[in-house]
Amino acid sequence: MNYGIALINLFRFHRVTGWRRKQPVFGKPDFVFRTARVALFVDGCFWHGCPTHCNTPSNNRAFWEKKLAANKARDRRVSRELRKVGWRVVRIWEHDLAKHGAVCIRRIKLALAGSG
Ligand SMILES: [Zn+2]
Repeated sequence: MNYGIALINLFRFHRVTGWRRKQPVFGKPDFVFRTARVALFVDGCFWHGCPTHCNTPSNNRAFWEKKLAANKARDRRVSRELRKVGWRVVRIWEHDLAKHGAVCIRRIKLALAGSG
């Protein structure tokens, strides 16, 4: 997965600081801003069931539908649990990261500023 690298490049370019990776936070956010209590996830289009790009494979369709539905349910649960204990949660789609980096950064900055 290269989302991490792509985002780090965006952080550098837009001078976003204060992030950490691999922090022991519930749900394993891709990036964590401890001071601002912002948890950032980059959701891959396939595994997280992006409405635009996730095509369920036609082989073993039932298996994949169940699997991807479970992934989405877990994402929602993780966001909910984190918010409950005071985190701001930002989720970015893989496709937005590639094409709309500036928009992603704006959402992150809003969350960091306390209004996300
Ligand atoms: Zn997508």
